[in-house]
Amino acid sequence: MARKTTPQAAKKPAAKAKRGKPKPWTAAEVEEAFRRFRKASPAPTTELQSVNPYTLLVAVVLSAQATDAGVNKATPALFSAADTPAKMAALGEEKVRDFIKTIGLYRNKAKNVVELSRRLVAEHGGQVPRNREALEALPGVGRKTANVVMNTAFGEATIAVDTHIFRVGNRTGLARGKTPEQVEAQLEKKVPQPFRLGAHHWLILHGRYVCKARTPECWRCVVADLCAYKPKTTKKQGVLAETQRGNRRDAE
Ligand code: SF4
Repeated sequence: MARKTTPQAAKKPAAKAKRGKPKPWTAAEVEEAFRRFRKASPAPTTELQSVNPYTLLVAVVLSAQATDAGVNKATPALFSAADTPAKMAALGEEKVRDFIKTIGLYRNKAKNVVELSRRLVAEHGGQVPRNREALEALPGVGRKTANVVMNTAFGEATIAVDTHIFRVGNRTGLARGKTPEQVEAQLEKKVPQPFRLGAHHWLILHGRYVCKARTPECWRCVVADLCAYKPKTTKKQGVLAETQRGNRRDAE
């Protein structure tokens, strides 16, 4: 039996078609965009709190499917109890769990943090390895985490594609791809060298605070004239969407 199409459902493909595929950016546009990002935020870095490369690694592992703000609430107490792999391994899974129980998936994360700490002690002399393969071999560490650590702790020009960068890349036309790996490969190809180190942070900050998932704030975006996303949102639409979200939260 043929499914009935609601008026709302019928509108969706039309809206998508209207938006179409964003056009890819030229090299000059990419350069100009990153010049503007750099001007707006000359020294971008991660918002995750850490005191050394090891605690950065732990913080990034804890941030999977959680917000940086949520992780930052839990980690100061954890890191004052254990800021090295040896101390974390000695603390043990149960105590780590207590420190991080406000973070989603904390049971599994506690297990991974203790196990990766044991492995760092046993296989890397208690140091965080400076290469992707060794990092990715640790429990709970995938390509994205390895890229963040390589970039932020060791100053390597890697670009870790998280949900924000994936959205910004595809939405704007800067770096399109069906998977985070494809978007990463596009960015590696397109972002000019002077901007490679900061690109990861600029794009995350842009996605988190301006090019937001539900309602991008196009009216205050520094790359609006370069971005292929259509139609651009107006401040009025943004305020309305925020009010509606607030009302829904109040009703819940
Ligand atoms: S113009 Fe809008 S969609 Fe494009 S990058 Fe800026 S906020 Fe995102």
